[in-house]
Amino acid sequence: MRNNIFSDKHTTRSERVFLKEDVLKDNCGIFGIYSKKQDVAHLTFLGLQSLQHRGQEGAGIVVSNGKKTKSIRNLGLVTSVFNEENLKTLKGYIAIGHTRYSTTGGNTLNNVQPVILNFKNDDFAVSFNGNIVNSNQLSKTLKRVNFCSTTDTEVIAHIIKETPGNTWEEKISKSFYYLKGAFSISAMSRKKLFAFRDPDGFRPLVLGKINNEYVVCSETCALDTVEAQYIRDIKPGELVTIDDHGLKSTQLISSKKQSFCVFEYVYLSRPDSILNDQLVHQVRQRSGEILSYESPVAADLVVAIPDSGTSAALGYSKASGIPYGEVLIKNRYIGRTFIQPEQITREMGVKMKFNPLKKIIKGKRIIIIDDSIVRGTTIKKIIEILKKCGAEKIHIRVCSPPIKYSCYYGVDTPDRKRLIANKKSVEEIRKYIGADSLKYLSLDGLVQATQLKKNILCHACFTGKYSVPIDNNFRKNIFEK
Ligand code: SF4
Repeated sequence: MRNNIFSDKHTTRSERVFLKEDVLKDNCGIFGIYSKKQDVAHLTFLGLQSLQHRGQEGAGIVVSNGKKTKSIRNLGLVTSVFNEENLKTLKGYIAIGHTRYSTTGGNTLNNVQPVILNFKNDDFAVSFNGNIVNSNQLSKTLKRVNFCSTTDTEVIAHIIKETPGNTWEEKISKSFYYLKGAFSISAMSRKKLFAFRDPDGFRPLVLGKINNEYVVCSETCALDTVEAQYIRDIKPGELVTIDDHGLKSTQLISSKKQSFCVFEYVYLSRPDSILNDQLVHQVRQRSGEILSYESPVAADLVVAIPDSGTSAALGYSKASGIPYGEVLIKNRYIGRTFIQPEQITREMGVKMKFNPLKKIIKGKRIIIIDDSIVRGTTIKKIIEILKKCGAEKIHIRVCSPPIKYSCYYGVDTPDRKRLIANKKSVEEIRKYIGADSLKYLSLDGLVQATQLKKNILCHACFTGKYSVPIDNNFRKNIFEK
């Protein structure tokens, strides 16, 4: 188990959001591989490392040799859960893996995925990214089940197991109609690998090939790491089954609407990943360019909040002709400290994370590019630090619209009342954070940067237009978990 300031299970979900960072967090990375030629456990380990940004609380791998499954799961980063020795014990030709960040359920060992169930001399394991908005209702239908965890994943696994059907494909297909919300899943039995995605396609899930065998994972950056070739995205509403006979695709639900999470482009995914045929780095660069056309300002330097704002800052700099530079050096190891939550103040947290380059800052008019503002606490502190270092002006440009609504589709947001843009106007936020000017990218500008149609994107955290309805109990419960 790692020593981490954020691993205190007694903190509430909202506290954990603050303690981690003043940003939205995705809740999981998933990986699956079917290969008789490769060391599947090792490749899953490498794939999970590439998906570490999607979850740092726990990691797990399940492997099958066709006759039995074996798993290793624990709290902590992928590299603290796995080592050469324990990976050698995971022998087989099918594997799924998971990196976890909790949006539902606490940070305990029982909640680490993949979840594994035994059924009629077979095993069924599930790695899940998303949020099932009717999980409370579904768990009430599973009266005889003694749940081992408090996660949606276990509910999903049991719903599939209990759904009538002669094969896992039949069970998955039928259970699709019960599951509401966002789900990208890699699952396996002893002899088959499955990958499926909700009909709205909220969260990413891609398919790749390695020596004529198959890999599925959350983002293409993990395919690159294991040297697999990107084939295509798993389609919304599609079930892919991989076994000795090869790959079979079944379109379970033909979705008329889609709701791919636009925030994957803004912050969640790695810049080197390709989502819907768009390289995330280029989308962010374009969003910076568009932001510079929408909200120009005279300045000496364009800088990013490392690292997520870098691509957009490069775009803003290119379009505006204002040089790009660095004024904040990030301590990349800050997430792994022995300091306990109660010992850390907000100010200390920011200072431990970013160190300013005082000589460069003094007397400069600086444009800071940030991907988003959630509570405004971090950017406020950064502006204070830069002003103390002698910055003449600080202009904040944000590469997404104001976040006014909570996400219920697999991204950890605070309760709506804690979102600064829900409570304050842009001018009030500017005054609160102490910037000389503050401008956000328009929603149309963000959509334009993705080069996708607006009606295939979810933008509910900006607009409040939830494509899958959220009932009030679910809204209430999710912030109490
Ligand atoms: Fe993504 Fe926002 Fe939609 Fe959540 S509400 S899925 S964060 S766009």
